[in-house]
Amino acid sequence: MPEIHELLTQNEKLAREVLAASADRVDREREFPRENLEALGRSGVLGLLIPTQYGGAGGSIAEMSQVVERMGQSCASTAMVVLMHYCGTAVIMAKGSASLKESLLPLIAQGRHLTTLAFSEPGSGGHFYFPVSEVQNVDGEKRLSARKSFVTSAGEADSYVVSARPAWASLPNQVNLYLLSKGTPGFTVEKPFEGMGLAGNASAAMRLAEVPLEDKNLLGEEGSGFQTMLEVVLPHFQIGVASISLGIASAAMERTKEHVLARKYEHAADNPTLAQLPRVQFLIAEMALELRSARAYLEGTIRRIAANDPEAMLDVLGIKARAAEACQSVVSRAMMLGGGKAFGQRGGLERMFRDTQAAAVMAPSADVLKDFLGKACLGLALF
Ligand SMILES: Cc1cc2nc3c(=O)[nH]c(=O)nc-3n(C[C@H](O)[C@H](O)[C@H](O)COP(=O)(O)OP(=O)(O)OC[C@H]3O[C@@H](n4cnc5c(N)ncnc54)[C@H](O)[C@@H]3O)c2cc1C
Repeated sequence: MPEIHELLTQNEKLAREVLAASADRVDREREFPRENLEALGRSGVLGLLIPTQYGGAGGSIAEMSQVVERMGQSCASTAMVVLMHYCGTAVIMAKGSASLKESLLPLIAQGRHLTTLAFSEPGSGGHFYFPVSEVQNVDGEKRLSARKSFVTSAGEADSYVVSARPAWASLPNQVNLYLLSKGTPGFTVEKPFEGMGLAGNASAAMRLAEVPLEDKNLLGEEGSGFQTMLEVVLPHFQIGVASISLGIASAAMERTKEHVLARKYEHAADNPTLAQLPRVQFLIAEMALELRSARAYLEGTIRRIAANDPEAMLDVLGIKARAAEACQSVVSRAMMLGGGKAFGQRGGLERMFRDTQAAAVMAPSADVLKDFLGKACLGLALF
């Protein structure tokens, strides 16, 4: 069973040596980062959140944040696959039956099982917490027909946490969550959607055609899925996406610093570097402010979650929007300072620029989060 500090060291080493080496290829070839995941699995990183009694590291959201941020610096596609795995893992830990946990959690701890979330549907789009697909009772059996849009690790993950409306539901927030294994009859992957960034995520739509559902597939009580999304998925997802954003932005910052310190002009008498120009220093200062304020907000949110602070939920709502926007701003400035080289080069900063766009649109999108946050600040109901 790995100690947390060893696992963080391993993650740092793998991010620096393995993820960074393949990041541009993963992006260019739209390659699912299987080798990275195998290395992370062997080192115990994929079992970070699993309690020690099942052989995991017993990590918290704070350590999850550190791990995916470091991955995001090297390869955001890998970081997002791992984050969705952590979100699925958190649901299985919180809502799986004792026998499911006995059988699955040790496998996750050993890095031998990858999971993900299949929530989004065309019918409710970014409002993924309100699935429109409904469980049907067919000849006394429960079956689910649905189309799930944008599933990360589609066809690659070993299991999928799937949302649906129970047949009895009369309200949109009456939702069930089910754990379905890869290869379940009627569960197929559609064409990948080939997003502009996070190209190695194997994101694709999945179709469920009259998939049989058994009681053992249900995670938690009937109708409790919406609550699970808010209490379990949301904190992990929001903190994780914010952390990946910070990882991408801090990598872009480092590359930009190296570039402006090295780039010299021969035509000028004193042969200055870009770094000597006041306007460049001003842009670097703006990038540093964005990064530092987003980081302080992220660290504060994590502290408030750990302390069960009643204000934590407000910050959980805000942090993904803030970090996504900070990251977009930092990476846009990095692209400008990178000049024609950054613009003309596939990979590197240009990859970060594309990868960074996902955080704002992944649901809840930055706009929807501000809608929630505004309501929460005014004491109005969110839904
Ligand atoms: C890289 C990537 C990976 C993903 N991985 C997964 C995954 O693993 N599992 C999964 O379930 N889903 C996943 N998703 C889906 C994602 O979480 C969203 O559900 C999806 O991006 C919504 O797209 P849409 O076109 O349906 O958005 P729409 O619902 O059409 O929304 C479009 C825009 O409208 C605006 N908007 C909508 N409603 C409001 C409102 N009430 N107030 C203010 N603005 C509003 C928002 O700005 C939003 O961005 C992924 C998406 C991406 C891009």
